[in-house]
Amino acid sequence: MTVLVTGGAGYIGSQMVLELADAGERVVVLDNLSTGFSWAVPDGVPLVIGNAGDPELVAHLVGEYGIEAIMHFAASIVVPDSVREPLAYYRNNTVNSRALIECAVQNGVKNFVFSSTAAVYGNPAEIPVTESAPTLPISPYGWSKLMSEIMLRDAGHAHDLRYVILRYFNVAGADPRRRGGQSSKGATHLIKVAVETALGLRPKIEVFGTDYPTPDGTCIRDYIHVADLVRAHSDALHYLRSGRPSLTLNCGYGRGFSVFDVIAAVKRAAGVDFKVEIAGRRAGDPAQIVADSGAARTALGWRPRYDDLATIVTHALAWERELPRRQVASSEAIAAPSA
Ligand code: UDP
Repeated sequence: MTVLVTGGAGYIGSQMVLELADAGERVVVLDNLSTGFSWAVPDGVPLVIGNAGDPELVAHLVGEYGIEAIMHFAASIVVPDSVREPLAYYRNNTVNSRALIECAVQNGVKNFVFSSTAAVYGNPAEIPVTESAPTLPISPYGWSKLMSEIMLRDAGHAHDLRYVILRYFNVAGADPRRRGGQSSKGATHLIKVAVETALGLRPKIEVFGTDYPTPDGTCIRDYIHVADLVRAHSDALHYLRSGRPSLTLNCGYGRGFSVFDVIAAVKRAAGVDFKVEIAGRRAGDPAQIVADSGAARTALGWRPRYDDLATIVTHALAWERELPRRQVASSEAIAAPSA
């Protein structure tokens, strides 16, 4: 019984691989390395470089490794990029997911865990948002994921395929044991940007909009520690293996922080001040989104362990400090002649 993790060399996928490997699961990673890193995949876990939407390749992996479950992380994830490049997002997120779901159905993979997003809710009318709230995305990113959800739902009705769709709120932080974290260059996500600014890697951070209808005028998000998020996936896998019905669940903590709250937390954790510049609103940003996470706790028995903004930013900072060492070690490994 092997779990196929698409996007397993990326930020969240690689944390998933660590979690599965720690639990003694057999894992194989499929990643095209467009944003991931081969060094992020732990030793002993096979890394196949390729596209999650390549049916021949996936069919081959299912046979070769005896894949019993797919965890599908591979995707493009930057909301403003999706506004600029919608068709690229529909291809990479929606079209590839369609092919992967079909491949699962045709090759008898019965368990599917899908990385979806709170962006499917758009600007929710009520906070916290429950899974039954209307889905009305305000970005192509959100639509690209919602379309994938719909395909999974319909395929699940028609075929012998069960799924758990996890709608992520704002994922941040890093492995508490410093084995991995968010490593891509040119990151756009708030905590990563703030941490890079705190460490002097950027001259300043911009706050995108201070005129939102929120207490301090900046957007409110529900930041969830990546280690708790991947634990929800393991819980989902156990849930599916026990033969229970498909589910769609929020993954957040149920409390929100503003952009200013996050910047203050990073300054505190890093013990430094840095330049903060007020800028205009960014396209595709909802004012406020916070999860009702009761369903994941009840259905999966999910128990978060790092529900604390200071812990999240402290782990993000620790990884950012570790990252140059990891990059140097990996380039030395590549440069070294093989024995
Ligand atoms: N944000 C910001 N400055 C940055 C990056 C993000 O003000 O450098 C804001 C962004 O406009 C949003 C919030 O932080 O209101 C969270 O954005 P992020 O990109 O981290 O996640 P998203 O909610 O878009 O998935």
